[in-house]
Amino acid sequence: MNGTVYLVGAGPGDPELLTLKARRLLGVADAVVHDHLVAAEILTLIGPGAEKIFVGKKGGAFCCPQRNIEDVLIGLAREGKTVVRLKGGDPFVFGRGGEEAEALVAAGVPFEVVPGVTSALAAAAYAGMPLTHRAHSSAVVFLTGHEDPNKPDSAIHWEDYAKLGATLCIYMGMKNLETITRRLVAGGLAPDTPAAVIQSATTGAHRQFVSTLGRIALESEHAGFGAPAIVVIGAVVNLSEKLAWFAKKAASVPAVATSASEWNSTA
Ligand code: SAH
Repeated sequence: MNGTVYLVGAGPGDPELLTLKARRLLGVADAVVHDHLVAAEILTLIGPGAEKIFVGKKGGAFCCPQRNIEDVLIGLAREGKTVVRLKGGDPFVFGRGGEEAEALVAAGVPFEVVPGVTSALAAAAYAGMPLTHRAHSSAVVFLTGHEDPNKPDSAIHWEDYAKLGATLCIYMGMKNLETITRRLVAGGLAPDTPAAVIQSATTGAHRQFVSTLGRIALESEHAGFGAPAIVVIGAVVNLSEKLAWFAKKAASVPAVATSASEWNSTA
C-alpha cells in the first residue's frame, strides 16, 4: 500500500506562522523532504525517528532536479511511508507544488495539500503594508521576477501590470529588479509610485526598505538588499510609515520614514 504524501507549506520563517496541521504532520511523518527556505526551528518539530531529506536549491543553483525530487517522493510513498514534502510559504505559490502533485497523481500515490502563509502575505503584514485598503488598492497581484531559466522569453508582459491600479507583489525579483521596474515605468506606472523591498520577512533578520519605483532597484542594491525578498509596489507601501510594527518593535526606530528608509529588525 502506498503511503500518503502531504505537500505542506512551512510559512515564511517565523515558526509560529506554521499551521496546526503542518505541525501535527511533522510530528508523525516517517520522512520529511524539505527545501532550504524552511527555517531551522521548524525542522526541530520533525519527530525523532523520521528520515530528513534535503532537496533545496540555493540562489537559483539547483541541488536536485525537479524530476529527482518527484522520484524521491514517489519512492518513499511506495515504501508505505507517510511523507511530508515541506516547502517555504505555500506549496502552490511559486513552489512547484503543482508539478509535484501532478507527478504523484501520475504515479498513483495519494496526496494532500496543506496551505501555508505565503511570503508576500507575511512580508506585507509584518512590514505594515495592507495589501488591499479601501482608500488605496482593491486588487493584489503575485508575480515572479525569475522564471524558468529555460524559457526563451519572459511570459510576463510587465508593461500590462502598470495599468491595473493593483498592489504588485514580486517574488524572486531582486536579480531582475532593474529591468522589471523599468518596464513598469515604460507601461505607464509613475516613477514616484511607492515601492518596497522586504527581506527575510518575519525572521530575526527581517529588513525592509522603502523607496519609489524609479529608484528602488539601485537604492536597495546599494543598501545591500538581496534574496529572499518580496518587492511590493503600490500606494499601500506608504502606510508602512505608520504601520511598520515588526521592524519598529525590534529596532525602536523613529516613526517617520524618509523617501528612502530602511528598517532592520536586527539593528
Ligand atoms: N512558496 C513560497 C515561494 C517560493 S519562491 C511562498 O509561498 O512564499 C522563493 C521566493 O519567496 C524568494 O525568492 C522570495 O521572493 C520569497 N520569500 C520566501 N521567504 C521569504 C521571506 N521570509 N521574506 C521575503 N521573501 C521570501
